[in-house]
This record gives sequence, C-alpha cells and structure tokens, in this order.
Amino acid sequence: MAMRYKDLVLVYEHVRSTTKRLEKTAEIASLLRETPAEDMVKIMLLLKGELYPQWDRRELGVAARQVLKALSLSYGIPIQRIEKDWSRIGDLGSVAEKLSARKTQATLFSRSLTIEDVFSTLRKLAQMEGKGTVDRKTALLGRLLTSATPIEAKYIIRTVLEELRVGIGEGTLRDAIAWAFFPRIKGINDQGEGKGQVQLTSLEELQRHLDDRDMLLVFKEETMAREAYKQLVSKVQRALNIMTDPSLVAELAATKGWRCLDKVTFRIMRPLKVMLAQKVKDEEEGLKRVGRPCIVEYKYDGFRMQIHRDREDIRLFTRRLEEVTAQFPEVIEAVRTHTPAEQFILDAEAVGMDPKTQTYLPFQHVSQRIKRKYRIEELALRLPVEVNVFDILTYQGKSLIERPFKERRKLIERLVDGEQGKIRLSASKVVSTPEEARTFYEKSLEAGNEGIMFKNLDAPYSPGSRVGSMVKLKPVMDTLDLVIIGAEWGEGKRATWLTSFSVACRDEEGNLLGIGKVGTGIKELESEGATFQQMTDLLRPSIIEQKGREVIVKPKVVVELSFEEIQKSTSYSSGYALRFPRLRNLREDRSVEDIADLATVEDLYFSQK
Ligand code: AMP
Repeated sequence: MAMRYKDLVLVYEHVRSTTKRLEKTAEIASLLRETPAEDMVKIMLLLKGELYPQWDRRELGVAARQVLKALSLSYGIPIQRIEKDWSRIGDLGSVAEKLSARKTQATLFSRSLTIEDVFSTLRKLAQMEGKGTVDRKTALLGRLLTSATPIEAKYIIRTVLEELRVGIGEGTLRDAIAWAFFPRIKGINDQGEGKGQVQLTSLEELQRHLDDRDMLLVFKEETMAREAYKQLVSKVQRALNIMTDPSLVAELAATKGWRCLDKVTFRIMRPLKVMLAQKVKDEEEGLKRVGRPCIVEYKYDGFRMQIHRDREDIRLFTRRLEEVTAQFPEVIEAVRTHTPAEQFILDAEAVGMDPKTQTYLPFQHVSQRIKRKYRIEELALRLPVEVNVFDILTYQGKSLIERPFKERRKLIERLVDGEQGKIRLSASKVVSTPEEARTFYEKSLEAGNEGIMFKNLDAPYSPGSRVGSMVKLKPVMDTLDLVIIGAEWGEGKRATWLTSFSVACRDEEGNLLGIGKVGTGIKELESEGATFQQMTDLLRPSIIEQKGREVIVKPKVVVELSFEEIQKSTSYSSGYALRFPRLRNLREDRSVEDIADLATVEDLYFSQK
C-alpha cells in the first residue's frame, strides 16, 4: 500500500521533540521498516528535507515570496495579512499550519496525501522552467496545500523552503538503516517487537544471522555485542562512502539485503566521497602520525577535483560531488591528451594559474569558475587551472582503494604524462626525518602553495573519512569553514548591501550552531575576493525571514574565516565565539556538510592554551 505523508510527518514531529539520538534512530528505523520499496528513496530524501541526492544540482528554487502567494491563493487570505503573521511567528511553515487549521474546519479531506503525491508535486516544482514559471509554481503549490492537513502543510512549506528544522543528520540515517535492515542486538538496540531471539557465543557467528531481520541477537558478553553492532554500522557506512547517496543504500539494504550491501562498489561516472586529512602542528608530529618513511606532497591551494574517465567520456566532480565537466573545458582537454584512453577515477587538486607568469593563484581567484554557467571558454583562458593528480581509486573497472598508497602512486606515475600548467602529478618526495620534511615544506611555500601533506605509504583510500594516515601541515593562522545563517542590511550608502554575516558550525548530527559574526574581509569594489554586492546577490534569494535590518538565510553559502582566537561565549549557541574574524574566501566548492564541526572548534580552542 502506498505510504501516507502523514506517517512521515509524525516521525518529523517525534524526532524534533527529542534530543536523544537513540530515540531518533529508533523512530526512523521503524518508519523505514514499514516503507514499501517503491517509496524508500523518496522517504529517505524527504527525511532530510531533500528532493535530490547531494550530487544532483537541481534545486527547488522556490522563494519565500512565492510561498506567500501560494498560501494566499490556497487559503484565500490577502498577502499583507499573511506577512503580518509571518513577522510575528517567524517561520512560514508554522504560518501555513495556522492558516490551514482555520480553514480545515470547513473542508473535509477526501483522501490523505501520499508520499508519492507530495514528492512528485515538489519535483514538478523543481523542474518547471520557462515563461510563466513563477505563476505556475504558485498555483501548483497552492493546490497541494489545499489537500494538506495543517501539520502536513507546515512540513510541506518547510521542505519547499529547504528549512526542515528536524535535525536528522547523516549519522542518524546511517544507524537507522542498520537498525531497520539488520537483526537487533540485545543491550544496544533491542527496542521493538521481534520474532524471537538467538544466543551467540562468538562474533564469527554474526555473519550467519544477518538475514534474520526480525531476530534479536543475544551475545554472551557486552563487549561482543558492542563489537557486533559496530560491524553492522560499518557495513552501512562503507556502502554510504562509495554510493554517497543514503537513499540508494537504504533501498539496496531493504530490497537486496546485506550481501549486496557488502558488494557495493564504484561505478564510473558516479562521484564518491573524498578522503580528508587531519591536521598537525609541525613536521615531527606529521611523521609521527603517518610513520616513517612517508611521502610528503605539496598542498596546493585550489579545490578538489575527481576525474572520471571511461575511454572518450571524461567527467569532473567537486568534493561536493557536483559535476563540473562543462565548467572546465581545459581540464577535459588536458586529461584527453595526457592520460591514456582507459578507464579510471583520479583524485586531484585543481589550482588557478596566472596564464602570463605561469605561477599559482590563491583559491579565491578561481572560485568563480566552479559555478560559472556562461562564457566559460573566455574565463578558462583568463583563469586557467592546472590539475595536480595525487591518487587513483579505480583502474580498468577494479577498485584500488584497499591497495597500499605507494602502489597507487606508482600507477599514477605511469598513467599521467604531465605538462606544466595543464595536468601533472603532485610534487612528492619520500622522507624519513623532520629536517627533510622541513626542506620540502619550505620549497612548497616558496612555490606559492598552502603547505604540505604527509601520507602513509601503505594506507588504503578511505572515502568520506578524515583519516590519520594523511595529514596536513600549513603555516597560516587558523581558519574555519563555516556557513552563513543570517545577515544584516547596511546603513547609509551601504543600505542596499548585506554587510554583516552570522556564521555557524555544526554538531555531529548536522545541527547548526552559531559561532560569530563577520563583516571584515569583504570589499566594497570589485577586485579579487568577495564584494558586498556579490555576497548580497548570493544570499538574497535564500532569505527566509526578515526582521528590521536582520535577515535569516537558508544555510547554503560556505565561507572560510580566519580569526585571532577562539573564546568561550554565551552569546552563540556553539558556546564559542571568534575574536577578530575575517572573511578569507567564499568556498563555493563546499557544502554545509563540509563545515567545521564542534569537535574541531573545541580542539582549536584547547590547542590555543
Ligand atoms: P583542508 O582543505 O585544509 O582540509 O585540506 C585538505 C585539502 O587539501 C584536500 O581536500 C585537497 O583538496 C587539498 N590538497 C591539496 N594538495 C593536496 C595533495 N597533494 N594531497 C591531498 N590533498 C591535497
């Protein structure tokens, strides 16, 4: 039977009302168990308030003004009155709930909305293009609202505005998949009804019972139970890292079971999550962390690029998993001429180059290329990038991620026939002492790079993880990647600009926590770096609330801030504040999932002392 939207809404409400992760997980897991296969992908996306997986660039593109119109249309109330409610209540979802409640008394719903109804209507909204789009979108949304109960209306509007405010992070979704589609384990996740239990005396027996979804596994020792649970979760995590899309992983787990989950492997032309590095404070620590001898490499100040090649088909992806093939014609050309026409996935850093002097430019110069849609060729000539290849993940259809790094490095040395300014191997050297690393570090900085990376010779490639087998060392004052959550209109001659920006980090669950405001580092006039005009243009379409000069925006724009110091503070929800923050870069290559988490902020705070 088709699933009703109401069932999902109830889960939203429960999850929202608790801060306990276990309760959230149990709630979502039981929803997933009841979800029919054909609704699984939709439910998984909607749980996060999304319509498309992360790597898909399509967006809903409905602004708060359109929602106001749709509400007015659907509930027959003048826009001005709704605006008043909005500024009093603050959130358009709650406004919709209230308006709908008033009207509901008069209407009886003929049938409940299904997941399919809501999902397909919202996707239609996202796909509308061309003349009259705004009006057609408003009408379509208005019709959907007419069939929604008050509480459904609230979540429809929040989904439309991409502001679900439920707080379901990737970690919870991962655990919920494990809970839903693997047997439960006594003492860990034994909630709910089952069909019986089995006793296990060793971990080796786990494998035999993985298909018994309704069973409760009882281990004789608690440590064993914990270890077993860890293994189940890591099976899901592994699949997530490779497929990157939780909705597909859930669908696979639900329909095909864990054996298929275990076999998940790369598919060429589908981007996977990249491996990230931890940070060290000096060469000594770098060597200690990755072991000696190790490989050190230049740390280029550009952006991550994943290159997929299947003979003549070449595609490029950013670390947000967005496709940027069209944006970088010169890279396609370079890959075509300087690597063999075979099948592989390379990991690389694309760095801006001054075409005249052939020297590197800082990231901020080329950041505009990532989103550019028009006159791409012209910009490619003015601000070309050089690709520095540092890893390979698959070759001729075979995964290499389990192979030791030194083997992967050897392979790229064979595959990439480098040419300066186009594509080349990352500069690298095998070192054993801090002195050797130091010399290499100085050389790297002199060449205009950010620092160096230390890499363990035997380490596998772990997609999606911040690992200790690859660490980074850079000299600059600390910086944090944060997301803008609010802003303030300027005064006087700056009145048409947003001039002060509230920024947030995230907790483990992906909830956003305020950490400060920044107004410096942004320029009045076009030169390099971000201008107030540019910031305003970027943020204006994302405004979801406005009170006086202050606005709240959808958390989309990621910025890199530098600062003097981190202080404890009661002014922001993170419990910390930045002293003398300054905007260094707009990080268009990063998404809200990439921003600093609270643990990183805390580490920085304690390392200052
Ligand atoms: P950070 O952005 O400070 O966390 O540093 C990690 C990033 O450095 C990676 O995500 C890459 O985009 C970039 N990077 C630059 N050069 C290299 C390299 N040789 N090896 C690995 N990552 C690199």
